[in-house]
Amino acid sequence: MKRETSDKLYESAKKLFPGGVNSPVRAFKSVKGSPIFIEKGDGAYIWDADGNKYIDFCNSWGPLILGHNHPEVREAIIKTLEKGTSFGAPTRKENELGELILHNNRFIDKIRFVSSGTEAVMSAIRMARGYTGKNKVLKFEGCYHGHVDSLLVNAGSGLVTLGTSSSAGIPEAYVNETLVAPLGNKEALTLAVEKYKNDLACIIIEPIPANNGLLIQDKEYLEFVRDLCTSNDVLLVFDEVISGFRVGFEGAAGLYNIQPDIITYGKIIGGGLPVGAYGASHEIMGTIAPDGPVYQAGTLSGNPVAMSAGIATLQQCLKPGFYESLNDKAVLFVNSLMQKIGKNHGFSIQQIGSIFWMAFSDTRINQAAQIDVDKMAFFKELYTHILSGGMYMGPSGYEVGFISAAHSNENLTQASEILYNGLTQVLEN
Ligand SMILES: *Cc1c(COP(=O)(O)O)cnc(C)c1O
Repeated sequence: MKRETSDKLYESAKKLFPGGVNSPVRAFKSVKGSPIFIEKGDGAYIWDADGNKYIDFCNSWGPLILGHNHPEVREAIIKTLEKGTSFGAPTRKENELGELILHNNRFIDKIRFVSSGTEAVMSAIRMARGYTGKNKVLKFEGCYHGHVDSLLVNAGSGLVTLGTSSSAGIPEAYVNETLVAPLGNKEALTLAVEKYKNDLACIIIEPIPANNGLLIQDKEYLEFVRDLCTSNDVLLVFDEVISGFRVGFEGAAGLYNIQPDIITYGKIIGGGLPVGAYGASHEIMGTIAPDGPVYQAGTLSGNPVAMSAGIATLQQCLKPGFYESLNDKAVLFVNSLMQKIGKNHGFSIQQIGSIFWMAFSDTRINQAAQIDVDKMAFFKELYTHILSGGMYMGPSGYEVGFISAAHSNENLTQASEILYNGLTQVLEN
């Protein structure tokens, strides 16, 4: 496989950007070789700068639920673009996207648009603190919430602990306001909430944790977390930046029918352009400026071009049968691969809706600590086969893959063959 142009671009990029990239997950730190530079995408495919073609399962890490260069999204962007890009004043496109979401979502009354998932979470946390007048936040080990200072925190050695920062540059004072609990452990969570409830503003969770493998939780556990929050006056924040509009239009809240107090969105909501959002009841959203005392602002927030990409994307998602068809594709893909591999070979696919994760384990994994770090060596080997077979995924074994509406059944069968061929070589060695 030719890589000369990508390699050349990467050499230049290294002189310009830390590690040659503008987001560390793009670096090939956990796999062999150096990053592939993408030239264009169309439907289920992307092409790199050397002209190699891949079936794409990264889909920009989730936003492209319709695949690349969807004609209606492209047309909507162009049409809006012709009237200018941003005004820093209200436009009708904001109303349109706001109505589209709120009229089809039973879990939030009001929404505020921002420009990334990180910004959505950061703002949601501030709102939770402002609304409750409390300081601490509890998160779960294995959930990612963007690069918000107080949430780049790992568990310490005990069960529920004040965390230790997972990045340099985060003051201890911030870390001391964050508790970290293991997913799935009711006793540990109960003890922590009882101990800290007087200063605990919120519990934040990815209801479908999909940033550290795919750690699917039991509905019953999520209901337990909901009830624990309610009985202790703690707000529940669902970080649905990945799961929102992905497992259904109403995201995980809709799938599990659980009412969180605050929901954050990102990724799909902008249809490939930078949009994030947070939403809640009228009452909680009333704490946000200019209605209330919690300040949050954004120069490019709700800009019409990004709004129009979001509108065009979500209109497709709202078509009858959209999610059923996407789900069918995912099931076809998983079944076709697992039938070839068979059980008890140290490999399984975890899947929910159109999100999947290749777990080098025979059993279901639902806690970060259950992931065998040594098994990531398998992914590293597999990744070389994935690329050379003509398939693209995020370059890390901890990352999930995304199936889009653009994937044909033929694409999925082909991808399952590429994976099968790679896996037979990797698992046998
Ligand atoms: C991607 C992601 C974020 C961060 O979103 P950005 O747009 O990358 O800032 C936050 N939370 C979850 C659950 C995510 O998947």
